[in-house]
Amino acid sequence: MSNTIANHLENTLYQISVAAKLAQRDPATIQLLAVSKTKPVSDLVLAYQAGQRHFGENYVQEGVEKTLALAHLNDIIWHFIGPIQSNKSKFIAQHFAWCHSIDRLKIAQRLNNQRLPSQAPLQICIQINIDNEASKAGIAPEDLMSIAAEIEQMEHLTLRGIMAIPKASDDYATQLSSFGRLAALYEQLKTRYPQVDTLSMGMSGDLNAAIASGSTMVRVGTGIFGKRQ
Ligand SMILES: *Cc1c(COP(=O)(O)O)cnc(C)c1O
Repeated sequence: MSNTIANHLENTLYQISVAAKLAQRDPATIQLLAVSKTKPVSDLVLAYQAGQRHFGENYVQEGVEKTLALAHLNDIIWHFIGPIQSNKSKFIAQHFAWCHSIDRLKIAQRLNNQRLPSQAPLQICIQINIDNEASKAGIAPEDLMSIAAEIEQMEHLTLRGIMAIPKASDDYATQLSSFGRLAALYEQLKTRYPQVDTLSMGMSGDLNAAIASGSTMVRVGTGIFGKRQ
């Protein structure tokens, strides 16, 4: 039986490399995060066997269960990318390597306190509500530098960059507009904090525009694992 997940993964990596070349970028500067929310552990194993190592999860309980089920695959790098309720922050702090969805200072403080001293610092992206949508999490662009300054001081967190989910659009020019504004914020952050190296943007439907705009990490679910229920 053919492994469609391996095929989809290969196609996604190919799409990344084509988009990178069109943008005159080195494809190796773009990390693929496989977004596996709602998908069974067996699907993650297929992606792992095909070489994938970075996985993104949106729901705390489901994500923690997967990290435990796959603990033996100890080179998986787990990213939390979903909305964060403060009463669940401890599970994120202790079971994930990255968190992309920091949208308030209180959550950053909790993660910093809850990360175990024996663990490497939690790698952080601040989520930006780039198109000012009521339905989306994330801080306003103008609040980025002040929250970044606070996170930068936290011993158990390492500030790596920003993440966003722009307003859904099939129009390439519209996609470029949101991604361009994110890229400008990213450059501003990078200038202040040299360790910042992650612009987490681009999903199955807007990968090409994200890469053209400078994304360093694309988060692909449907394109690898197929449609979700
Ligand atoms: C679900 C999700 C993705 C992946 O979306 P696809 O369209 O399935 O590629 C990426 N980022 C976040 C934050 C998500 O919640």
